[in-house]
Amino acid sequence: MSAFVGKYADELIKTARYIATPGKGILAADESTGTIGKRLASINVENIESNRQALRELLFTSPNALSCLSGVILFEETLYQKSSDGTPFVDVLMENSVIPGIKVDKGTVEIAGTKSETTTQGFDSLGARCQQYYKAGARFAKWRAVLKIGPAEPSELAIQQNAQGLARYAIICQENGLAPIVEPEILTDGDHDITKCAAVTERVLAAVYKALNDHHVLLEGTLLKPNMVTPGSDSPKVTPEVIAEYTVAALRRTVPPAVPGIVFLSGGQSEEEATLNLNAMNKLKVVKPWTLSFSFGRALQQSTIKKWAGKKENVPAAQQAFLARCKANSEATLGKYAGGSADAAASESLYVKGYKY
Ligand code: 13P
Repeated sequence: MSAFVGKYADELIKTARYIATPGKGILAADESTGTIGKRLASINVENIESNRQALRELLFTSPNALSCLSGVILFEETLYQKSSDGTPFVDVLMENSVIPGIKVDKGTVEIAGTKSETTTQGFDSLGARCQQYYKAGARFAKWRAVLKIGPAEPSELAIQQNAQGLARYAIICQENGLAPIVEPEILTDGDHDITKCAAVTERVLAAVYKALNDHHVLLEGTLLKPNMVTPGSDSPKVTPEVIAEYTVAALRRTVPPAVPGIVFLSGGQSEEEATLNLNAMNKLKVVKPWTLSFSFGRALQQSTIKKWAGKKENVPAAQQAFLARCKANSEATLGKYAGGSADAAASESLYVKGYKY
């Protein structure tokens, strides 16, 4: 069952390893046009290209923030956009040693005969799209698979469909020079306890790594983007230390040491919660053969977007808020976050039922 070693093998390994540099993480700024529209609507800003560009420019040109990042995931529109001085965003990122990545999936569709379980679309011309994205400067990719916890969910069908989908996506990316982020997100919706989430996470990850091996994916040239192991959104909360213990145990049982980095999604946690949980994991005194870092969307942008409110004069304050979250998460990857960088906006829950990215 040996891994496929194509012409990009060395570059894939280098890319994944660099993204997993301790002290750095990923900004997920790959919201589709629909999803970014919801963010803009929350601050009464119209969802037009110039406003989407302005938000992305605010993030990518934030003074000092990029030194906390090793990668940024972009949506196709943003991959080809420029900052207002005419510099392509891709160049702005690369000049700051941040690798541009690209979302390549096309959202989810329901699997017939299930209780609203889904599979992810986007295989049509995926290889050709990867080639174009590579030409445009992207060096890694993201594909989000979504599973949910219910009385009989996730079903074996949903687990197998999503594991096969992630593996097929991953090998197509590797054939075309993009290091794949493998993202099997288990939603927090439900009233289950943390042990249930741990059991489901382990079952899903075991299936994902079986499929990646069956598809000859070069694990050294991949990253994993999982959910943290937490109680369901309708259950009482537990401390970051408990979340850290369950999450790291689930990962140690299922993720091979060949994988250089695990970059968590924030999944509706508040900015501060996500940072504290990541910090607690990195403080745990057990063997962790991979870097544990972040690939947050909402938990890196929420307070920044609020501060900005679509107004030019607010850009410096918004960039300060973004820098504060980037720094806090960078420290958390080293287990050195002391807490306290949160204002009210950073402590606000970002949970949305049945969230669609
Ligand atoms: P959140 O951190 O907002 O959950 O999103 C990260 C992401 O990229 C999901 O695919």
